[in-house]
Amino acid sequence: MPEQHSQLVDGFSRQITYVRLSVTDRCDLRCVYCMAEDMTFVPRAQLLTLEEIARLGRCFSELGVTKLRITGGEPLVRRNVLWLFEQLGALPGIRDLTVTTNGTQLPKYAAALKAAGVTRVNISLDSLQRERFAAITRKGELDQVLAGIDAALAAGFERVKLNSVILKHRNHDEVRDLVQFALDRGLDLSFIEEMPLGVIGDRDRAEAYYSSEAIRRDLAGRFALIPTTETTGGPSRYWRVTGHASRIGFISPHSHNFCGDCNRVRVTAEGRLLLCLGQEHSADLRRALRANPTDDKRVKQAIRQAMSIKPPGHDFDLTERPIIFRHMNATGG
Ligand code: SAM
Ligand code: SF4
Repeated sequence: MPEQHSQLVDGFSRQITYVRLSVTDRCDLRCVYCMAEDMTFVPRAQLLTLEEIARLGRCFSELGVTKLRITGGEPLVRRNVLWLFEQLGALPGIRDLTVTTNGTQLPKYAAALKAAGVTRVNISLDSLQRERFAAITRKGELDQVLAGIDAALAAGFERVKLNSVILKHRNHDEVRDLVQFALDRGLDLSFIEEMPLGVIGDRDRAEAYYSSEAIRRDLAGRFALIPTTETTGGPSRYWRVTGHASRIGFISPHSHNFCGDCNRVRVTAEGRLLLCLGQEHSADLRRALRANPTDDKRVKQAIRQAMSIKPPGHDFDLTERPIIFRHMNATGG
């Protein structure tokens, strides 16, 4: 990794170089691990405007942040979101501009995102079986997302990565097929352990827990996995499969806590700076932006000050009721 000099350093000497900006909490899908079936979304008037998000991106980059990820909710359902990508893509300090999407809008947007300067795209895909895909996402159409993956490949991003949340008895028997799908297309793939964010109905998250280790055990029969020290600046730990370009990653908040080298913070669509995915420590950047409409120095000062309350790590426990009542869509996953 190149040496980084961020002005954002927390109380545990961790440099913050990566910010995930959520542009909406809304979504065209309702994945069972992410949302309840019936969701109340933030009133539009409370969201940051795209101009305010672009301003925050500029402030972060001037503070030494080099990587921005645009997420949600589903970021590509926000109206005029391409304008935002164009603004962020033009910031000189940003080396990596990425987006996490469910893929449904990629047939429409992939080429324009590439032209705006997006370097890498993460696409969520939990099943290759139509009915299952529809059940997990509650209303998604697999073919639409597969078309989105093709569009991303055709657009020529540096990397396209799939994200799969693996749940026991829902899709755990598909991990080999998902890896084969990724290998055949030269895609990276990260398996994610479900995190207890928000109340999602009657489903028992502890019962659905399927560990990264269990996935690697399942894969071992079919693929020769080789551990690597590679990183993309996020929480994935990567393995390679001999003879293939793809990386197979594991995001394992339960079985491998990744907080020690955390380099990131999140901003919700309402402008709340979240210092940790699994804790409530936060700062109100919307207030800082609106109180200082022309003075970026004040906004940067608010961001710098917030670093002192970044906690050491999350305390996720699947056996308890969620202690974090924010859903992932409101968190900016
Ligand atoms: N809508 C986009 C998507 O699905 O990729 C971006 C937002 S989504 C909240 C970001 C990522 O968080 C997705 O890969 C999704 O699978 C993951 N995710 C959502 N809820 C989760 C949970 N409770 N535990 C672990 N991962 C979760
Ligand atoms: Fe929407 Fe993404 Fe959450 Fe699924 S994981 S409901 S696609 S925000």
